[in-house]
Amino acid sequence: MTIAQAQQPLVFIVSGPSGSGKSTLVAKMLEVPGTMFSISSTTRPPRTTETPGKWYDFISEEEFERRAGRGDFLEYARVFGKNWYGTPRRSLEEAQRKGLDLVLEIDVQGAEQVKQKLPAAVAIFILPPAREELERRLRGRGQDSEEAIQRRLERAQQEIRRYTEYDFLVVNDDVERAGREVQAITVAARCLRIPPNSSREPRPYPERQMLQHSPGRWLAYWPR
Ligand code: 5GP
Repeated sequence: MTIAQAQQPLVFIVSGPSGSGKSTLVAKMLEVPGTMFSISSTTRPPRTTETPGKWYDFISEEEFERRAGRGDFLEYARVFGKNWYGTPRRSLEEAQRKGLDLVLEIDVQGAEQVKQKLPAAVAIFILPPAREELERRLRGRGQDSEEAIQRRLERAQQEIRRYTEYDFLVVNDDVERAGREVQAITVAARCLRIPPNSSREPRPYPERQMLQHSPGRWLAYWPR
């Protein structure tokens, strides 16, 4: 057995408000060899563009309750106060069996639960550019009513306040650069000597590290 094989696979958590482009960045992470995606179970109906079993396992509320009751989920949460979403434990088991790093695209509530159970999980928060740009992207998707857009923006603001619970911040104002950043994080996390800080204390971004594209600079523009 090589040293690489003897290591436990990593768990990556990726969160970010809708419109932050996190799915695109997750796809970039999955281009890194040795990674696999965790297919969540959800009670949300599939969108016309979604193939069941690719990004989600679409199930009924009754089935979701049954699985939750059996303890089948590593974490689960009701998102937008409406639909249920959960990470099946068997994704983690499969990743461990195959020796692959597991990528979870989950919301802030799910991330909190995973961090409690697996403190060594590497949590990445995707920040959208300024609010106006987020609003433009949400409208551009042509998917939501005006009321839904306002709800998503409000929720985005609430979610963004929890960025301090994450190990890495990536600003998705330029998808090429952000893609390189998430891939770099994936690779670098494998070389970490100690797991990321799992403390829930807010860690203010040091101002002297505010480079042009750094999340710290970005945060200065986003109301907290
Ligand atoms: P959407 O319905 O737009 O695909 O996703 C809505 C939200 O649910 C997103 O923030 C997404 O990250 C989150 N989500 C997707 N799968 C899971 C999951 O398994 N657990 C949790 N807690 N959230 C999830």
